[in-house]
Amino acid sequence: MIQKKTAFLGLSIVVLATLTGAGGFFAAEHLHRTDAPAQAAPAKTAPESQHDAHDQHQHDQHPQDEPKEAGHDHGDEVSDLERPVEEMWSARCEHDLLQHQCDECRYEIGTVKLDASLLGENGLVRAGYPEKRQEHQQERRWSGEVRLDDTRTVRVASPVTGLITRRFTTPGVKVEAGAPLFEVDSPEMAEAKSSYLKAAAALELAVKAAEREARLFAQKIAAEVEVQQAKAKRAEAEAEIAAARGRLLRLGLSPAEIEQISAKKGASALNGLVTIRASRAGTVIEGNAASGEHTETGKELLTISDLDKVWVMADLKEADLATVANTSGKEAKIDALDRSFNGRLDTVAGRMNEATRTAKARFSVDNAEGLLKPGMFVAVRLLLPTRGETLVVPKVAVLADAGRTFVFTHKEGDYWIRRPVTLGARLNGMVEIASGLTAEQRIIIDGSFLLKSDVLRSKMGAGCAD
Ligand SMILES: [Zn+2]
Repeated sequence: MIQKKTAFLGLSIVVLATLTGAGGFFAAEHLHRTDAPAQAAPAKTAPESQHDAHDQHQHDQHPQDEPKEAGHDHGDEVSDLERPVEEMWSARCEHDLLQHQCDECRYEIGTVKLDASLLGENGLVRAGYPEKRQEHQQERRWSGEVRLDDTRTVRVASPVTGLITRRFTTPGVKVEAGAPLFEVDSPEMAEAKSSYLKAAAALELAVKAAEREARLFAQKIAAEVEVQQAKAKRAEAEAEIAAARGRLLRLGLSPAEIEQISAKKGASALNGLVTIRASRAGTVIEGNAASGEHTETGKELLTISDLDKVWVMADLKEADLATVANTSGKEAKIDALDRSFNGRLDTVAGRMNEATRTAKARFSVDNAEGLLKPGMFVAVRLLLPTRGETLVVPKVAVLADAGRTFVFTHKEGDYWIRRPVTLGARLNGMVEIASGLTAEQRIIIDGSFLLKSDVLRSKMGAGCAD
């Protein structure tokens, strides 16, 4: 029944349109159309008017269409938002027309016919294009403190107990690996060298004795047991010197230095002087030990660190943790000394500090010029991933239907079709289109709700009334 009524109304509108002309028509249309079919297009050409009449005629002639139409509700239908446009564009309706050309059926494919006169500056509907916008890189800021990079740092401890007799460097000085740092006079070293020399002498004797016994045994002068004894003593002497040598190595002598002890064999070889050397290249960071001071085995004398890279530690609040999740390796900027240093997020501590409710985040920072010093306070900016250029449209351009968001896009001529979009960030009356549109796609910017009401009203009026 309603089918007939809508068709009749549609026809009456066409008559009105021809009487009032396009300008006055739109108001009339909206006054009259309570359940009219999907068509915002007022100005009818003669053939289209005939087409309306033809529809009317068809309905009259084939009342058997009624139950079929009443049965085609939207229950199992795929939404037009899901279907490819081209497929819908070539579909034919039950009136044997291309569906988008059928005034009664085009709503089913989310299509509206919109007369060009309604568009433009004075029109009720405004069309345009999505706006390109360069997304500003987002960042998070914290304060932080410069620390040594532990993986590039060694702490130099004294291998011996004794008196510091010389100091070769001061904090801030760059040293190469192997460079002398301190000289310590250690009675322990003197004693160890002495033991080593004694062991060397004992070994020399034992080797000669073993050789002599072997010779005498060959001449049948010595007994075999004496040869065995001499061999045992030599083995014992070898063990002794190995132990003495090990002790010297532990005290910090290099194999070359140990060789020199045995070569010189003089009193000078027996001094207890130990040279402590840098085990890696870097900058001397701290070291309070001075000449004349007593030191002990294991006592830390200074720290050497490669300051080409430093760490910056920042305290992150609980709310920040989600932000930094999965951002390991992401770029960061460290602001200090009126400039920015490049860094990366290394790690975030696995647990929170219970007292402060914060977790330490560690940044690795380029510091080739050595300007960042341990203990310095800095500002940390973590640069969050950016998606580059995005498209934005006014919020009013975007409509929703059953939880799906869509915009009306221009198809061709007077035809506009709604297409699904997914939304991103919202800002100042604009909304970012995450997907579904290109910058070249013309859309209804303002007044799209009028088109939507056409689609929805028509759906209710035509398809599923009874
Ligand atoms: Zn149709």
